[in-house]
Parts: sequence; structure tokens; C-alpha cells
Amino acid sequence: MADDRVQLASLNSAGPSTVGQQSLIGLDAAELEAVLSARGEARWRGAQIAEAIYRQRVKEITEITTLPAALRQKLAGEGWKIGRPAIARVFQASDGTERYLIEFEDTFPKAETAEAVWMPEGDGGESGDEGEERDWRRATICVSSQVGCAVGCQFCLTAQLGLQRNLTVGEIVGQVVAVLDRHSVEVGRDRVNLVFMGMGEPFLNYDNFMKAVRLLVVEVGLSPQRMTVSTSGIVPGIERFAAEAAEVRPKLAISLNAPNDQIRGEIMPVNRKWPIAAVIEAVRKIPLRPRERVTFEYVLLGGVTDGPQQARELGRLLRRTGLPAKVNLIAWNPGPGVEFKTPAPGAVEAFRAALAAEGIAAYLRQPRGREIYAACGQLKRTVEG
Ligand code: SAH
Ligand code: SF4
Repeated sequence: MADDRVQLASLNSAGPSTVGQQSLIGLDAAELEAVLSARGEARWRGAQIAEAIYRQRVKEITEITTLPAALRQKLAGEGWKIGRPAIARVFQASDGTERYLIEFEDTFPKAETAEAVWMPEGDGGESGDEGEERDWRRATICVSSQVGCAVGCQFCLTAQLGLQRNLTVGEIVGQVVAVLDRHSVEVGRDRVNLVFMGMGEPFLNYDNFMKAVRLLVVEVGLSPQRMTVSTSGIVPGIERFAAEAAEVRPKLAISLNAPNDQIRGEIMPVNRKWPIAAVIEAVRKIPLRPRERVTFEYVLLGGVTDGPQQARELGRLLRRTGLPAKVNLIAWNPGPGVEFKTPAPGAVEAFRAALAAEGIAAYLRQPRGREIYAACGQLKRTVEG
């Protein structure tokens, strides 16, 4: 059965497959136009479909009311669908954070899920626009780029899954569209940030990740300056990223997590391939925008990376790079099967102060939604919530 599907799909590779279904989400306007013109339809119908999928957040072809009913029928009859992933489960934390189990439609050979997180920064609903009830003023969506992850950082729960597969362009964009839809976000009016810090290593799924970003900018209408991508330090990915146009390039965060190669190599195997100096050299190639800073994420592992000595070493390291840098400090979030300790009380603040004394700005990242396994490094498709 599996082999049949592969064969049939390749026989039909020039056009839409008549077996199985094909997703429209993930295609850009030019690709949608090509689909339409290949069927003898006006190209501008493609732009209408893009508008429906990405701006109006329509879920079914039959509901794209700007298209003639006959055309909707024709596309659906040929096996096309929008194919937006669904929010299958929602886990809610007391601070308003929501973790979603996202279920992908088009998964072959097996159905897969990944996670996304919604983190509102609220005002208790007091500033609702024109009487509208809203309990958030701005929000951040944390997006996954892969199912699982191959990088194997010792302190991260996602690592335990291994890499299951890359997400497609439509699956990455679709997570965002589904979450925007759930919260009735008005793009352009509401302040929504995206962080590509969910499951997976975005720079090991570079093409899909970056095409998804372009769609999110061009079709969904989000600003790349409100997006941050985090990498564990995949040097070829950082080098490609450096060559992206500023109009579509998110901000960059590097998961540094240690002040030297010795400790980093022990907790992040990727460091043995691309040590700190190689990562910094690649970051240097990025033409930063005015006032743009590179974020260095630093997970504080109790007794391993959270000492004042390490703060000074980190401060000196970052100063020597000469890069406009800031540090996000993240107290390690515990999880089953991961053998580290949370930092001792006071250690995080002492670390921040020691960095400040070295002239490096550092911010404490508050853990969001720890009780529902939504915080950094906890995304493992836990179904208890
Ligand atoms: N794979 C990318 C994107 C995921 S971001 C990357 O590693 O950068 C996830 C962030 O959470 C990274 O900065 C990572 O260092 C951090 N992290 C991983 N496990 C964690 C844990 N258990 N507690 C706190 N932070 C963690
Ligand atoms: Fe992968 Fe990032 Fe977790 Fe490392 S921290 S295993 S790169 S998701």
C-alpha cells in the first residue's frame, strides 16, 4: 500500500495527484497562480486563494467565497484541500499560557503531531479596544519546525524524541495561522511576536523554515522584526541566514548555554562539530539592522553553568566578539528523564548581575506554563496536562 502511493504520486508529479490529497497551504501566490493557470483558470484566482488561506484564515476550499462555486468544486474534486493543521488538544496554564498539540493532515507514512505555545502578556482585559473583550495586550507564539530534534542537547526534553521528521512549509505556517485564528488576532492591529523556539532545530530544516517565514511576512502580514529564530549553532544554516534579505529575515538567537567549548561540548554535542568560535564567525556575517542585537540564550543548569565564574567568562567571551549582544537567561526547566538541577535560589539574579558588571545586558526569561510542560525545552508532546 505504501509503495503504491509513492508510485502513484510520482506518476502524477506534474499535476495534482488524483490519489491522496494535496494541500494548498504552504504555496505562495506565484505557486497558487501556477496551479490555477495549469487548469485554464485566470492567474489572479491564485491571489484570491492566498488571501483566503492566509488572511481570512478559511479552512475549507468550499468556503472560499471569492471563488465561483464551480471552481471550488473542481479543485476539491481534483483532490486539493487547504490542509491547515488542526489544534487537536489544548493545555491551559493559570497564567494564560496555552500549549497546543497540533495534528498534521497530510502525513505520510504516519500521522504526526507537534506543539505550539501561546503566551499572552495580559492586562486583565482592561484595555480592550472599543469595548472588545480581550485578556491580552500582546502575545508571543512559539512555533515548531520539526517533529522531535536530532541535535541531542542533554538538558532538553525534545531531544528525547529524536528526529521524527521535518515539518513542511504548510505545517509551519499552518501552526501560526491556526493559533492566530483561535485568538481572533487582527494582524496589523494586535501585537503578536513569533519565536521559532518550539520543537526542532529550524536551521536543520532551513528551506522549509525560511519559505514559511517568507509566507508569514508576505501573505500573513507579520513583520520579521517581530520574529526570532533560535538555533543551537548550525553554522551552514547561520551562513545562509546571513544572506537573506532584511525584509524577510527574523532576528537571531543563539543557544549558547555555556561560556566555553569544554562545558558546551559536554551538554551540546553539536559543539564538537561547530565550536563557539565558528558559530561567532558565522553570526558576524549577518548584516544587522540598525539597533538590532543578537540574542544569546543561556540555560542555567544548577551546579554546571550557573556559577559567578561562568558569568564572568561568558561576559568576557561576548565582549570580545564585539557583537551587539544581549543574553536571555533561562533557569533550567525540569522534566522526566533529564538529570540536571534547577539553579539555586538567587543564582539566576547573581548571574545576571555578574554579566551586567562585565557590560553585557541580560534578561531573565520567566518560565511560562511549566505546569503544562509548555516552557522552554519541555515540548515533548506530553499528553497529561
Ligand atoms: N532547537 C533550537 C530552537 C529551540 S529553542 C535551539 O535549541 O535553539 C529552545 C530553547 O530552550 C533553547 O535556547 C534551549 O537551549 C532551551 N532549552 C532547552 N531545554 C531546556 C530546559 N529543559 N530548560 C530551559 N531551557 C531549555
Ligand atoms: Fe534540539 Fe534545541 Fe532541544 Fe537542542 S535545545 S535538542 S537543538 S530543540
